[in-house]
Amino acid sequence: MKSFFALTLAFCALFCGKSSERTVFSNDESKRVYACGRTDGQSIALTFDDGPHGEYTEQILDILAEYGVKATFFVIGENAQLYPELILRMKEEGHAVGNHTYCHRLSCRQSAEEFLGELKRTQSILKDLGVKDPLFRPPGGEYDDKVLSAAQSLDYDIILWTVDTRDWRCPSTEQITKGVLDSVKSGDIVLMHDYVWGESNTPEALRQIIPALLKEGYSFKRVDELIRSER
Ligand SMILES: [Zn+2]
Repeated sequence: MKSFFALTLAFCALFCGKSSERTVFSNDESKRVYACGRTDGQSIALTFDDGPHGEYTEQILDILAEYGVKATFFVIGENAQLYPELILRMKEEGHAVGNHTYCHRLSCRQSAEEFLGELKRTQSILKDLGVKDPLFRPPGGEYDDKVLSAAQSLDYDIILWTVDTRDWRCPSTEQITKGVLDSVKSGDIVLMHDYVWGESNTPEALRQIIPALLKEGYSFKRVDELIRSER
């Protein structure tokens, strides 16, 4: 199952050409698409994709708990089935949990029915675990009409990002840390991964990023809180 997930990631990157480029997203609130939150408070949202992972998700949850920081996890249905206890822990500790499809296939490789089916399957798995957060992040950040209509029919906000750590490529701790600290600003949604294919430096980078940003006066919000902050 895990190798299938890795293969689909590579396949989608190759044939849909989305993962190799750095796309700059912006909000389109009429379509409930959000790349960033309110910029008038000094808050940002940390988001972690593709998990849960048997090792890294737990490490990340431990670090978030240590600093009392709330974050958002966009989980893959098949991984949620493997680690339901981690989904329960996320909810228990006050994090938001969003849908990131069932097995991370990009919409460009599927029919509208298949894509909606993936979302529904994961929604049902998450509902059984007590998750009702109306948050969805499409794999690769790809959102076409197919994605928009599937998300709309399930009443999801589509959540993209403004800071991409590209940590799925397993860069060094320093590269991830510098990438965030050099570019982050109020309202940013930071894309990280708790599941990577290889050795992850994300937990170690998080240990540096969180205290550094707290020192600069930033606070951390769940993504649903960040996009709906009081005006
Ligand atoms: Zn992903």
